[in-house]
Amino acid sequence: MSEQHYKYVVVGGGQAAGYAAREFVSGGVKPGELLIIGKEDYVSYERPTLSKAYCKPEGPKLPAFHATVGGGGEKQEPAWYKEKGIEYLTGTTVTSADIKNKSISTDKGQTFSYDKLMIATGSTNITLDTFGAKNAKLNGIYYLRDIADGDALNKGIADAKKKNKEVVIVGGGYIGMEVSSMLKPHGLNITLVFPEDRLMSRLFTPEIASYYEKYYEEKGIKLLKGKLASGFVDAGDGSVKAVELKDGGSLPADLVVVGAGAKPNTDLFDGQLDLLEEKPGGIKTNAQLQTSHPDVYAVGDIAAFPQTLYGGGSSRQEHVQHARNSAAFAASEMMAPGKRGEYNYLPYFYSREFDRAWQFYGVNQGEPVFFGDASSGKFGSYWIDNGKVVGAFLESGSGDENNAIKQVATVRPSAPSKDELSKAGLDFATKASQKSATTVASVGSSYSSSQALGDMAVIGGFILAAFAVRRLRNLAYNR
Ligand code: FAD
Ligand code: NAD
Repeated sequence: MSEQHYKYVVVGGGQAAGYAAREFVSGGVKPGELLIIGKEDYVSYERPTLSKAYCKPEGPKLPAFHATVGGGGEKQEPAWYKEKGIEYLTGTTVTSADIKNKSISTDKGQTFSYDKLMIATGSTNITLDTFGAKNAKLNGIYYLRDIADGDALNKGIADAKKKNKEVVIVGGGYIGMEVSSMLKPHGLNITLVFPEDRLMSRLFTPEIASYYEKYYEEKGIKLLKGKLASGFVDAGDGSVKAVELKDGGSLPADLVVVGAGAKPNTDLFDGQLDLLEEKPGGIKTNAQLQTSHPDVYAVGDIAAFPQTLYGGGSSRQEHVQHARNSAAFAASEMMAPGKRGEYNYLPYFYSREFDRAWQFYGVNQGEPVFFGDASSGKFGSYWIDNGKVVGAFLESGSGDENNAIKQVATVRPSAPSKDELSKAGLDFATKASQKSATTVASVGSSYSSSQALGDMAVIGGFILAAFAVRRLRNLAYNR
């Protein structure tokens, strides 16, 4: 097959790709200049929907959550790309890349050359066979990364309902917490098992975790802390019957969902680009998201970029706001180098479980200072490092309150005493943010009220609600 040439090629049609396409279009890309290649059968969609709503009874289906609705933009269905003259190959895997000669090949036998390449291959779930777990491939054991996984899990849920409804969720991080909340409305008996001494230990302080643990237990989810899943028991027909724990004992299971972390998809570029062998891993970039080859950019989960706001060390963010922002940034740089300056990303994490929602900005480094009243459901934490407030977490914040904690993490004001900070609580953020409104307006990771409304729309997943919210979002966007 002959080689086709494109000015810009994006490898990986996931979360970042849709936002890159939006930016290429707004930068004036011409028909026939941009090619996107993705393994999945769908054009870019908002991945967070998968663990919050996709497997709920009557969860949302595509096209309701195509990118870029979560980021306050248009719903980019396949026709959108066609209309803009963007070639989008779905169901196509890039099998090799020749960075020196600027070409890539696919599993369909095609070869494409390019002027500039954007790598957006994302992450793959870490599977338990990696750790030598016994019977790790039995039927009834699921992971969640893409729509195909979500569809498989929906079938698994239906099967478990026909059996004893026993569900074990392995991992007390994002997937574990979100999926157990998403599955509970099915009336399943859910046990969440994880090795740490508390939920979401990578971020939650003991106070935050204890609030969530009580909340989950009240919702009927059993928590099993300090336990590692080490294998699975075969029911005799190739399907799972139980989860074995490392220190002995087992948990009955008709359905297992594993959320044991993810790793960046860098294999295609081994030996061709500078990769970070040590943590955080990924493809090394400079502050313009350029890799060690000047015509190749890396975005989203695989990019190990300099964390310019926090001393310039390499950081990798496996979160959607970074995927959106880095994709837009790199697309703009690929079209007009030097236009955007440096990629200044303020780390931002969020999650939603049942009727709870939290946000975090900055870094959870140094000493945490709890504030608010957990019994009222409104509380948070600051982190003080070297006399500065460097991170802030808030449960159930309003748009303004979340903006205030974001501004604190951006500006990193001097911290008062721990007691004073704890007593001041949200007032500290509100006052600090009023003082610094102009500084913050220029920071790259802005999460506007229109974006927040967009995320609510996709994750809510109910079409009527989405229409209503979309109207609100459009109003907010046009202001
Ligand atoms: P991805 O979105 O993973 O896209 C990569 C794409 O590249 C995939 O479609 C993959 O199939 C494709 N690909 C890989 N290799 C090849 C190849 N060789 N050829 C062709 N295609 C290839 N973050 C948050 O901040 N908030 C959330 O609520 C949240 N929820 C999440 C829920 C789930 C279930 C998951 C899995 C992640 C969630 N995340 C969330 C993380 C967030 O979705 C990721 O950080 C984001 O998707 C990263 O975007 P990306 O484009 O870099 O990678
Ligand atoms: P995670 O790192 O958040 O959590 C992994 C958990 O699995 C940890 O508790 C770990 O100790 C546990 N674990 C590992 N091996 C285990 C074993 N054998 N038995 C029991 N527990 C074990 O990773 P995740 O939840 O799998 O998330 C995967 C990816 O998806 C990450 O990139 C994450 O950022 C992303 N994600 C993000 C969000 C969000 O930002 N709201 C939501 C979903 C997914």
